[in-house]
Amino acid sequence: TVAASAQHVVKTYGSGDTEVHALRDVSIDFQAGQFTAIMGPSGSGKSTLMHCLAGLDNATSGVVRIGDVGLMGLSDKEVTRMRRDRIGFVFQAFNLVPTLTAKENITLPIDIAGRKLDEEWFDAIVGRLGLGDRLTHRPSELSGGQQQRVACARALVGKPDIIFGDEPTGNLDSRSSGEVLSILRAAVDEFSQTVVIVTHDPRAAAYADRVVFLADGQLVRELYSPSADDVF
Ligand code: ADP
Ligand code: ADP
Repeated sequence: TVAASAQHVVKTYGSGDTEVHALRDVSIDFQAGQFTAIMGPSGSGKSTLMHCLAGLDNATSGVVRIGDVGLMGLSDKEVTRMRRDRIGFVFQAFNLVPTLTAKENITLPIDIAGRKLDEEWFDAIVGRLGLGDRLTHRPSELSGGQQQRVACARALVGKPDIIFGDEPTGNLDSRSSGEVLSILRAAVDEFSQTVVIVTHDPRAAAYADRVVFLADGQLVRELYSPSADDVF
C-alpha cells in the first residue's frame, strides 16, 4: 500500500520576475513500511516537497495524498486534523517545549488531540529509544541526541501513518546522528511505520530502503538499498 504520494506536483513561489519554480512536475509514491531519504543540493526543492506532502504547504498544482486521502479536496481545518492524527514530524531544531518534561513533550500531540495514551505503546517506544530514565527531565537538561530522541518518540507516540523528518540529524554529532537514524529504522522495522526524511547526511543512506535525489525541482535519480558510498 502507498502511505503517501505526489502526482505531477508543481510548486511555484512568487510571480513574474521573482517567480521560483521550486517543484517542476514531481511524481513519487512512498510505500508503507519503507524508509525513504530525499537528498539533493540546497535549493533543489526537498523541503518544499516534504512540506507539500505533509500538508504544511499547498502545491500550486498536482495531487498529494496521505493514504488514499487527497489533500487538495480538504479544507484547512481538515488538513490540520489529518496532520495531527496521521502524520508525525521530526525537525532539525527538535522543537521541544522548554517548560515541559520529556514525557510531557512526548505525549503533547496525544494531549492536544484529546486522545488517550496507549501506555504499552508509550513504554515500548521509550524503552527502545533509551529514554526511560530521562522522562522527568526538561529539554535543557538533555543532550542534543537525547532531545532528538524525545522528538522521535513524540513523532511515534500517536501511531501516525507516516513520519516526516526535516534534516533530523542536522544538528547532531556523528554518534547521535547514528542513534537517531537507527531509531527511524526501528520505527519502520519494529513499529511498522513509514518514514520519509529530507537530509544532507550521507550516513542516512545506510539506514534507508531508498534514496531519491532532487535537482532543480525534479526527481533525477533513485536508489534502492543504497550504501553511504552511493551518495557521497
Ligand atoms: P531545499 O530544501 O532542497 O534546500 P527548498 O524546497 O527549501 O529547497 O527551496 C526550493 C527553492 O524554492 C529555492 O530556490 C528556495 O529559495 C525557494 N523557496 C523555498 N521556500 C520559498 C518561499 N517561501 N518563498 C519563495 N521561495 C521559496
Ligand atoms: P533548507 O534549505 O534547510 O530547506 P532554507 O533556509 O532554504 O532551509 O529555508 C528555511 C525556510 O525558509 C523554509 O520554510 C523555506 O520555505 C523558507 N524559504 C526558503 N527560501 C525562501 C525564499 N527565497 N523566500 C522566502 N522564504 C524562503
